[in-house]
Amino acid sequence: MFSKKKSKTVVVVGGGVIGSMHAWLALAAGHKVIHLERDLAPQSASIRNFGLVWVSGRAAGAELALGLRARELWETIGLQAEIGFRANGSLTVAQNDAELEILREAVQMADASARGFELLSSTQVKWLEPVLNGNHLGALRCTTDAVVEPPMLLGGLRAAMLGNERYSWHPHYDVVKYKKTDSGHTVKSAAGVKVSGDLIAFVPGAAHHGFLSDYFEDAPIRKVRLQMGATVPLASELSHSVADGDSLRYYPAFKDLSLHTLPTQEGIAAERKMQLLLVQRLDGSCTIGDTHEYEEPFDHELSEAPYEHLSQVIANLFGTTAPKIERRWDGVYSQSTSTDIYFRKEIERGAVIITGGGGRGNSLAPAIAEETMQSWGI
Ligand SMILES: Cc1cc2nc3c(=O)[nH]c(=O)nc-3n(C[C@H](O)[C@H](O)[C@H](O)COP(=O)(O)OP(=O)(O)OC[C@H]3O[C@@H](n4cnc5c(N)ncnc54)[C@H](O)[C@@H]3O)c2cc1C
Repeated sequence: MFSKKKSKTVVVVGGGVIGSMHAWLALAAGHKVIHLERDLAPQSASIRNFGLVWVSGRAAGAELALGLRARELWETIGLQAEIGFRANGSLTVAQNDAELEILREAVQMADASARGFELLSSTQVKWLEPVLNGNHLGALRCTTDAVVEPPMLLGGLRAAMLGNERYSWHPHYDVVKYKKTDSGHTVKSAAGVKVSGDLIAFVPGAAHHGFLSDYFEDAPIRKVRLQMGATVPLASELSHSVADGDSLRYYPAFKDLSLHTLPTQEGIAAERKMQLLLVQRLDGSCTIGDTHEYEEPFDHELSEAPYEHLSQVIANLFGTTAPKIERRWDGVYSQSTSTDIYFRKEIERGAVIITGGGGRGNSLAPAIAEETMQSWGI
């Protein structure tokens, strides 16, 4: 616990969503924040993702509690910064009887009402979201799921923080060295510039190498690569985020349900561990994905077969030709491989590394940062 009396200088290394949330909460608590980022503008997972604040998929217990707390914080932050926060809810759509049965089980889970689960018939889905006019048997609606806009998010948070003179943003500051000193913590950039603070959070995302690599030795984390895409703008509004039944296989919320009854995943969907997630952006386009690749070195190319599969699933759900995919990209995140929800390591008193948020890093970011503030007692 650090004294609450004096305002601290908090150094945050990493301008992604989890780093930015550390900066946000430290600033909100009245401290001076020095925010360091190696790129001119952050280019990693936090700007390549769906922007989902996904409560529906969180494992029962501690992970759900963290997810619900993060959802609460996101809503407040969404009122204070232009990040495109929308409490839009989600629909996980069943396309076969086995998926529908699992959705029936999901609404009976002990925490179903905390998550805001309800089962909708196919007719109700079509009434709620006329775009989903294709083949489905019903959907699990989750009213607590929400979304932020990745293209606006980090800039929106910084714009709000820059209105506070206690915040400073330092892009192109590649931290290459860290030292604990008598008076606090000092980092040095590749250009030789030193910065010091009372407390420091290293939030480097999937940069498991470099000056932090010693601390990551044998750490239960791995990198995961995903392929993503964006469609042309739809003519109509699709307010809910949408997931297909394959997502039930991957989200831990559903792990104790009758997943063994699901038909075997086949072809490219099985090979790339695919699910459909789809979010309409403010410009009408839809972010779609995804695939999962776990073996390094990762493929350097974007392969076309996953996009063909996603288009087929979308066409089936929409009951019409899938919108053209006009942009494709990939992204890599750092994922905890232990039972810990994410990776946290105190390397010195007041110096902590946080990564490994995996596919839930955006969802949980504010609550993860809050845990750091609590551990520092600030
Ligand atoms: C394609 C894709 C889709 C996803 N979809 C979702 C989703 O919808 N919902 C969800 O909850 N999660 C999602 N995730 C996961 C989520 O995006 C990540 O968990 C989250 O963005 C991680 O945030 P971060 O700040 O830890 O890391 P990052 O976003 O990787 O940011 C780390 C930053 O640290 C900087 N940095 C690294 N080393 C240094 C250094 N030495 N000096 C200075 N700066 C440094 C990097 O340049 C980078 O900007 C997705 C991830 C991907 C890849």
